[in-house]
Amino acid sequence: MHEQKTALVTGASKGIGAAIALVLARDGYDIWLNYRSDHTAAAAVGKQIEELGRSCRLMCFDVADPTAVKEVLTPLLEQEYPSVLVNNAGFAKDTLMVWMGESEWKDVLSVHLDGFFYVTKLLLVGMLKKRAGRIIHIASTSGQSGMPGQVNYSAAKAGLIGATKALAAETSKRNVLVNTVSPGFIETEMIDGLPIERILPMIPMGRIGKPAEVAEAVAFLCSDKASYITGQILSVNGGAYM
Ligand code: NAP
Repeated sequence: MHEQKTALVTGASKGIGAAIALVLARDGYDIWLNYRSDHTAAAAVGKQIEELGRSCRLMCFDVADPTAVKEVLTPLLEQEYPSVLVNNAGFAKDTLMVWMGESEWKDVLSVHLDGFFYVTKLLLVGMLKKRAGRIIHIASTSGQSGMPGQVNYSAAKAGLIGATKALAAETSKRNVLVNTVSPGFIETEMIDGLPIERILPMIPMGRIGKPAEVAEAVAFLCSDKASYITGQILSVNGGAYM
């Protein structure tokens, strides 16, 4: 019998994560939908997933809090193991290095790197045992090119890229494939308030990307079509960094 597939997407109450959850549901995955605070938005995405005929389990926890991550995931993992994990949860706290406080540095590193570590570590064991898994990290052009005002965010995203390659090297023999999707400027709450007229000239395609355009790249990397791809960085940035 065909085994039902499950995907855990972190930070999926809105933006890129919500688009990823919806595209994976379309592709037949039941969704474990993590978010941090916006219950209403998460419930709305959950409803859309159910309308696609898939189940959605809402999971409110801070990926950077190891106790919360374990409390929610450990009992569930005794019954079921997702075969896909998308580490998407994140935020930026932009300021020039000379003004950057310790909390801006630590919070941004923590949500991306500690969050990756705590969630991935719990799911990895089951993937390795089953010899099947896809882990996708959402990085950023900022982690590839560096971006002024984002020393913390660039460091965090570059860290994820390094972790992608090291983990891929550790797990590929067991058919657990690890890749990163690296978006450029994408239309979400995260870029609200940025000066779009100053950003557009940096993008050869001359427009901001859509969450669904990032989600389709993730869906490809989770599909059977990507069965020989691991340790790679797939940029979805309209040519902003080549
Ligand atoms: P967004 O619209 O602000 O959504 C962020 C999501 O992450 C929300 O669901 C939020 O949950 C969740 N989240 C934040 N902190 C969390 C935490 N500690 N634990 C669990 N969930 C948390 O942002 P987005 O633009 O979609 O960004 C998604 C990812 O893409 C991020 O990693 C970001 O760095 C990356 N990215 C974005 C862009 C861009 O231009 N938008 C470009 C490159 C990379 P609640 O709202 O429920 O609290």
